[in-house]
Amino acid sequence: MIGCRHSMTINDVTPSARGCEECLKVGSPWVHLRLCRTCGHVGCCDQSPLRHATAHFHATHHPIIEGYDPPEGWGWCYVDEAMIDLPDQTAQLTPIPRYV
Ligand SMILES: [Zn+2]
Ligand SMILES: [Zn+2]
Ligand SMILES: [Zn+2]
Repeated sequence: MIGCRHSMTINDVTPSARGCEECLKVGSPWVHLRLCRTCGHVGCCDQSPLRHATAHFHATHHPIIEGYDPPEGWGWCYVDEAMIDLPDQTAQLTPIPRYV
């Protein structure tokens, strides 16, 4: 948690969708999924074409995401650009659809 002041924004969340919410709407592929630990938004990572997790941060300023697919249990703070330890890991709503 060194350098991150946003641990109070970490909530127990319910994932908003089985895959990236926006990619599912437009039929776009993604590489990995990121879960917003403030509101539960599921978005795709920066290796994905549309980068919806980062877009969600810019739109909402929710700072903390979790590696959701694969479920890796790490957290990332966009504001501090730092890996953080999460107090827990969010269970996946299975199955996660696969586009790649
Ligand atoms: Zn932070
Ligand atoms: Zn996406
Ligand atoms: Zn959010």
